[in-house]
Amino acid sequence: MPTDFEPAAVAASQQAYARAVRVIPGGVSSPVRAFGAVGGTPRFIAKAQGPWLTDVDGNRYLDLVCSWGAMLHGHAHPEILADVALAAGRGLSFGAPTEAEAALAEEIIARVHGSGAEQLRLVTSGTEATMSAIRLARAHTGRAKIVKFAGCYHGHSDALLVAAGSGALTFGAPSSPGVTPGSAADTVVLPYNDAQALTELFAQHGDEIAAVITEAAPGNMGVLAPKPEFQRALAETPRASGALLISDEVMTGFRVSRAGWFGLGGVAADLVTFGKVMGGGVPAAAFGGRAEIMAQLAPAGPVYQAGTLAGNPLATAAGLASLRLADEAAYTRLDAAAQTIVGLVEKEFAAVGLPVAIGRAGNLFSVFFAEAPPTDFDTVRATQTWRYPAFFHTMLDHGVHLPPSAYEAWFVSTSLTDEAFEVFARAVPAAARAAAQAVPDAPPTARR
Ligand SMILES: *Cc1c(COP(=O)(O)O)cnc(C)c1O
Repeated sequence: MPTDFEPAAVAASQQAYARAVRVIPGGVSSPVRAFGAVGGTPRFIAKAQGPWLTDVDGNRYLDLVCSWGAMLHGHAHPEILADVALAAGRGLSFGAPTEAEAALAEEIIARVHGSGAEQLRLVTSGTEATMSAIRLARAHTGRAKIVKFAGCYHGHSDALLVAAGSGALTFGAPSSPGVTPGSAADTVVLPYNDAQALTELFAQHGDEIAAVITEAAPGNMGVLAPKPEFQRALAETPRASGALLISDEVMTGFRVSRAGWFGLGGVAADLVTFGKVMGGGVPAAAFGGRAEIMAQLAPAGPVYQAGTLAGNPLATAAGLASLRLADEAAYTRLDAAAQTIVGLVEKEFAAVGLPVAIGRAGNLFSVFFAEAPPTDFDTVRATQTWRYPAFFHTMLDHGVHLPPSAYEAWFVSTSLTDEAFEVFARAVPAAARAAAQAVPDAPPTARR
């Protein structure tokens, strides 16, 4: 096969990885970065600009991970950097309130008007946001049980780190050692998009359930959209039993529209969680809800929740600047970028005769090796994920940095240029061939 590229040298990344592995478990600060699902050496990043990452060997990659969605405007955006630099010059953290916290809360509440987020508490990670929302829901209802959906990820707090039970009404089993059966026992896992399973559970156990938590549109089992009847059940069933609905917009919030998935037809909730985009690449997240529920949080009320660095000045500066830039034109640009990428993928896979299905929730999407887009975690797991390592590594060799797992969303940014799309377009044909030629159960490529 003729090649029009030189595979990149990665000696410096290999060295950095070997060094990191000695002092950091797996060499990374978050597991998926280690390339475990695709094999090979994770690229250690030295710097980034716009849509481009530069690794420690000096290789340049088109970035379709965007810090897992946080970098809505690409990297090192001059306006965002300027605001962060201004804030840094005034001091990095005070442990006392600042005006910027209210400004960010006002901006978010205005954007998601009608979603249920009437008041907001700032935290530092999405994990904290959902964990705190669950505590608040339990306090508000005086009930213990929570319901989550198989394949939805809400961070790694114990109660939410619960395996997907295959049948309906499966009481949760811990999905990680260290999560006690006790902390998992109050979590019920249901199949996603199954309105009937939800109504049946509530018919039997409705008065024990504090809250139902769901990704507004799932992006952590690949991307899939909620069915309309499922959204109707989410809106009606928990409330009819006095339970709360928690809509997790940590990934979708301010990414798929000004108002997140809610802005694209998602249902209003009692509590809503945000993260990723709202921090502009600096750790920031939030949970919001109806005012009378939020009033139960300390110090206004008895439900304890706190954070040393919550509402950090760098994070509020980066978040406010990112949201200011996220106007209607930005979302038009993001939607068009997603359409261009999806179109190129569909065209090149059609050319090699391998079916792919694009899971989509607005400009958030992922590529499934399947005839039709999955609708729940079982159908996601039935896709030919074993084709992904070959696809991923061929894209990487051609200078495109995709999520290193078949189960992750792809993230576009407003910084994508014609050159970026050209790099992508040049990479896909070979990667589609590699995916078509992949064989089941091949070990991850050990090339590097
Ligand atoms: C990323 C994510 C989280 C966790 O956020 P962290 O900041 O990584 O703790 C929670 N929920 C959803 C939907 C996410 O995508």
